[in-house]
Amino acid sequence: MAPKILFGPAGIATAVADEGTAAGVFYCREVGLGAMEVEFVHGVNMKEDKTKAAGEVARKEQVRLSCHAPYYINMCAKEKPKIYASINYIVSTAQAAFWLGASPIVIHTGFYMERTSAECKKLVYETYEKCLDEMEKRKIGGVVLGAELTGKKSAYGDLDEIIDLAQHFGLKSVMPVIDYAHFHAREKQLKTKEDYLAILERVERGLGSEAAKNFHCHFSGIEFTDKGERNHLPVASNSPPFAPLAESWKENGWSGTVICESPLVEKDALALQKVWRKISGLSY
Ligand SMILES: [Zn+2]
Repeated sequence: MAPKILFGPAGIATAVADEGTAAGVFYCREVGLGAMEVEFVHGVNMKEDKTKAAGEVARKEQVRLSCHAPYYINMCAKEKPKIYASINYIVSTAQAAFWLGASPIVIHTGFYMERTSAECKKLVYETYEKCLDEMEKRKIGGVVLGAELTGKKSAYGDLDEIIDLAQHFGLKSVMPVIDYAHFHAREKQLKTKEDYLAILERVERGLGSEAAKNFHCHFSGIEFTDKGERNHLPVASNSPPFAPLAESWKENGWSGTVICESPLVEKDALALQKVWRKISGLSY
């Protein structure tokens, strides 16, 4: 049997943009998308009762939810107040995710600020640790921190760094979130199935088949410079191409969730799903 992969938009579909999270979930179900990422990229501002209600809708409609933490996080900032603020952003996103029944929460770890990866690593470990401790204190269970593969070369979070974080904390606490467009922009331009298989092999070598069986990833087109990401593009840009990635999933038997971060969120999430279904021969 071909692996089960769910697709969904990053945030509330543009068609119902002003109608709130629950409306976003209904919309996904209506058009046949099985996932949605709730965006807290500009701050966490959902009230407990509303958040729980949206989670209830997602459970009923069987739409798998994840969250995206605020952009302002820098877990390796030089100033202590910025570290504390980052922990706050992450823990409040985790709290909302807990109410929603969502996981993982996707995080941009931070910036090197002219230091080496090794210099930042100690601080990054400490900050993730503090977030996990605080989540435990608040009894936030079942929410995994998703370390995203970041798009700028100045940002902590290349493929090796996010695999290392998941190794250090264990997959039940921290998992890698591969953003293929970001990889394309900062590490190596993706063209063939072999290019994608090489990424999957690195993940599997580092984290075992468990990581492969339940991945969470981002996909979109991307415009970039030698510094990395500039901005996201529709998937029709074919930069990077999606079909070879779908072929590599079929070949490896991987399953998980694909969140579409193209400017045409729901339209492109459906387009990706269509390609996957065709390649995998699925009819679900
Ligand atoms: Zn992101």
